[in-house]
Amino acid sequence: MTITATHINYYHICHRKLWLFAHGINMEHTSDTVTEGKLIGENTYTDRAAKYTELQLEGVKIDYYDAKNKVVHEIKKSDKMEAAHEAQVKYYLYKLKQYGIDGATGVLEYPTLRHTSQIVLTNEDIEVIQQWETDILSIIIREDMPPVINKPVCKRCSYYEFCYC
Ligand code: SF4
Repeated sequence: MTITATHINYYHICHRKLWLFAHGINMEHTSDTVTEGKLIGENTYTDRAAKYTELQLEGVKIDYYDAKNKVVHEIKKSDKMEAAHEAQVKYYLYKLKQYGIDGATGVLEYPTLRHTSQIVLTNEDIEVIQQWETDILSIIIREDMPPVINKPVCKRCSYYEFCYC
């Protein structure tokens, strides 16, 4: 199967969420963390489409890629799940490298917080990402659903009612 940036993102948020998504149980809505970044991007930076290109590689779709400077721009609303956001951008850089685009960097943007983070991919990151891929596959092939995590993030998760009601 193809591992996508969404798998990487969910792996860093909750293994149950990853498992549910991978098993086709999809309860996404527009307030979900993955889609909200796109909405913010469209609403906040209306000239983005003219400056950057959308890039689609196996398993990843980069909404805003600055091909001239080799920079991935990822826009998010809240930094509450910054580790997952960073992992997602690193995965973009990893896939770009696999496709022969070396030295690309990332910028994680939180326009409503006026905060940005620079993201680079190190050799150590590559080994870590390969481990993420192995872990993700082992979680997905489990027959039983991973347990609920009972964390604050659950309240903002699209699977909240599924998990707790
Ligand atoms: S509600 Fe919580 S336990 Fe359930 S999938 Fe979402 S993050 Fe995981």
